[in-house]
Amino acid sequence: MAEPLLHVRGLNAWYGESHALHGVDLDVHAGETVTLVGRNGVGKTTTLRAIMGILPRRTGTIRLGGQDMLRVPLHRTAHHGVGFVPEERAIFASLTVEENLLLPPVVAPGGMSVADIYRLFPNLRERRTSAGTQLSGGEQQMLAIARILRSGVKLLLLDEPTEGLAPVIVQRIGEILVDLKKRGMTVLLVEQNFRFAAKVADRFYLMDHGRVLDGFAVADLPARMNQLTETLGV
Ligand code: ATP
Repeated sequence: MAEPLLHVRGLNAWYGESHALHGVDLDVHAGETVTLVGRNGVGKTTTLRAIMGILPRRTGTIRLGGQDMLRVPLHRTAHHGVGFVPEERAIFASLTVEENLLLPPVVAPGGMSVADIYRLFPNLRERRTSAGTQLSGGEQQMLAIARILRSGVKLLLLDEPTEGLAPVIVQRIGEILVDLKKRGMTVLLVEQNFRFAAKVADRFYLMDHGRVLDGFAVADLPARMNQLTETLGV
């Protein structure tokens, strides 16, 4: 099999003196959607932050398309095609939808045009002159994803994109992720909503205590449901 787009081995990461990741191993192949699951506080968000380089104290291996990402400083991560949508969505509230879309620089080849983005997110086109503050939670989440697509991202890191959203919006975000997958996007997702994750993910990794315990394909999800419900208390 070809080298995965993202290859993580023995990843350790710290918040100051606090050791949060204890040897995370995972692979994400080009075009796959992979979901991290696990109880609160086991290190899912920290894994995304460490891959992005937001946590400067890291050891182990992170390779993206063969590039050693531990040598790449945060301000250069996007140039290698990694985009991170944090749980808090990080859009510019005082700017309009369109200004939010135009602001991030195109740093890598292959980014979508604003016209392409509006085709994928027609509701953002309708809201293009609205300020970030006027958007619903679902529209903010869509904008947070959309604004990264222009930059030429190859690997999208998404932290709980469905958190706090109504079922109809969750469904819409699921459709968008399926559409992005058809366009070849690679996604590493943190998600607690299994029904949503089952629709978009190819594989899952179960995390505990700052490590990946186990990995399984989406086809094995039904057989794993009892064990997961018990482990995760969901
Ligand atoms: P959740 O779903 O609650 O976000 P998670 O699996 O994403 O859970 P992380 O947020 O990655 O977990 O947290 C992993 C560990 O790192 C936890 O022990 C948490 O308390 C700690 N931690 C997270 N953020 C910080 C921070 N900014 N400073 C110090 N410790 C942190």
